[in-house]
Amino acid sequence: AQQARIIDGKAVAAELRAGIAREVAALKAERGLVPGLHVVLVGEDPASKVYVASKEKLAVEVGMNSVAHRLPADTTEAQLLAKLAELNADDSVDGILVQLPLPKHIDTGRIIDAIDPAKDVDGLHPINAGLLAGGKNGLVPCTPLGSMLLLKQALPSLSGLEAVVIGRSELVGRPVAQLLLQADCTVTIAHSRTRDLPAVVKRADIVIAAVGRPRMVKGDWIKPGATVIDVGINRLPDGKLTGDVDFAEAVEVAGAITPVPGGVGPMTIACLLKNTLTAFHARRG
Ligand code: NDP
Repeated sequence: AQQARIIDGKAVAAELRAGIAREVAALKAERGLVPGLHVVLVGEDPASKVYVASKEKLAVEVGMNSVAHRLPADTTEAQLLAKLAELNADDSVDGILVQLPLPKHIDTGRIIDAIDPAKDVDGLHPINAGLLAGGKNGLVPCTPLGSMLLLKQALPSLSGLEAVVIGRSELVGRPVAQLLLQADCTVTIAHSRTRDLPAVVKRADIVIAAVGRPRMVKGDWIKPGATVIDVGINRLPDGKLTGDVDFAEAVEVAGAITPVPGGVGPMTIACLLKNTLTAFHARRG
């Protein structure tokens, strides 16, 4: 059989960022306004530091006003709430992202609730989650948004297709399922209690894997010609990154598939910048 088309997330993300950069330049030239993205990091988690640095860098690259607020690990919940109140009140701040996970002494839910939903570029505020569940457009979480953009690269029309999402997290599985439903797919959400997962996946024209288990989805689970979006990022003992899908097997069966790395990963930050622009326009016209 023919090998699957490999969906190049790196290229699609670069193109998306280039379009955002053009829009930001036009805003600056025509209205003298610069969208502002503010990322708040509490503590010294090494992975979080890397993520915040790359968000900061890419926001600068597209011409945004990019500010990282690095707070010490012993920042209290009250201090973090005060910082968010300040950013909420500042008209030049379009997007606010609090890098997760937060230190254990801070209640994450309370912090997310305190972000102005109109500036919640991670799309995690209950207002935005509720809008999405109601089929309305608020700010949509970045990884699900990026997954949909890659999916549309492979399949211009999603209407009527069978989609199976593996994973039901607030961050990925649930929102991506809502977006597929909005795109008129027939959506199944599978999770750790799903019976006979291989048979469920076999029905799917579209497989979205967001589990966090290296190479769990095998080639013989996949319907020939299906489109596979692998959200998983798992580090193997040898240090290499791998997805939730057994790529070597799946590429022989699928019609199109995203690699890891170089698939959904690069789309996430590009979509954060896209959300910042969306938030800018929703608030400032
Ligand atoms: P979570 O751990 O929050 O959720 C995992 C989901 O997978 C849960 O719903 C769980 O089910 C389900 N699950 C676990 N084991 C099985 C199983 N054996 N069979 C079927 N379902 C199972 O993870 P996230 O959603 O946050 O992330 C998923 C993956 O995506 C991770 O690898 C993560 O690193 C990656 N990721 C990548 C991003 C990117 O930028 N590309 C961004 C965010 C995440 P249950 O609810 O029953 O426990």
